[in-house]
Amino acid sequence: MFKINDIQKKFGSKSVLQGISTEFPEHQTTVIVGPSGSGKTTLLRSLDLLVQPDAGTLALDDLQVDFSRPVDKKTKNEFRDQTSMVFQNWNLFPNLTILQNITVAPIYVQKVPKEQAETQARALLKEVGLSDYADVYPQELSGGQQQRISICRALAVHPKYILLDEPTSALDPEMETQVLKMLEQLAGEGQSMIVVTHNMQFAKNAADKILFLEDGQLQFDGSCADFFAHPTPRVTNFLQGIS
Ligand code: ADP
Repeated sequence: MFKINDIQKKFGSKSVLQGISTEFPEHQTTVIVGPSGSGKTTLLRSLDLLVQPDAGTLALDDLQVDFSRPVDKKTKNEFRDQTSMVFQNWNLFPNLTILQNITVAPIYVQKVPKEQAETQARALLKEVGLSDYADVYPQELSGGQQQRISICRALAVHPKYILLDEPTSALDPEMETQVLKMLEQLAGEGQSMIVVTHNMQFAKNAADKILFLEDGQLQFDGSCADFFAHPTPRVTNFLQGIS
């Protein structure tokens, strides 16, 4: 189980996360929604220790992190063995082929034998219909294809949780659909995911749990079904505002 308790973060005098406590169930998809500037990305990055909150704790199974002290490198590494982040702009290594992009972490971080890592990477590419691109460089692929590769790269290290920060916001609608289909399939297979998104249709299709964040506070923390079936007045406004 992945849990956070009373996470607080200020940037200057601005309180961006004001005491967030929740849990992210395993084998489920938790979707984080909310207006722009509400703290979604900061929360997600805190979960991957890319941002150090000022206070609060985080626990992932036996691993415990107390943010009131600097997080040491060993803890960061142990933690990141269990989580994998997918960024908005995919961040593939431009000088590596697609196969190398997917195998670099398994080979050099996890010490998986090269042949085994490549076999697994080819299997992942086959699953997403991108086998033909194993030996080309990222710039030869569309944005949607690159984002699907970056999701394969995240999966290749067998993380407990995949964290995705607005994975389709840099894509045009057709490519967005391809990426969302892939994520819905992963959700259906029980991959534990935490996704920041503005795409409410995706939230409806794939989320088990929804967190609605506003001004750094959780205004809703519950099931996807409840979120859409019994929205609070504030959630109704939000849903109307973006649809
Ligand atoms: P969201 O993802 O919901 O749009 P963010 O987490 O990106 O929200 O940002 C929340 C607030 O924190 C915003 O006001 C943003 O300007 C501010 N913020 C985010 N990152 C930084 C930073 N590195 N330095 C200063 N302010 C930041």
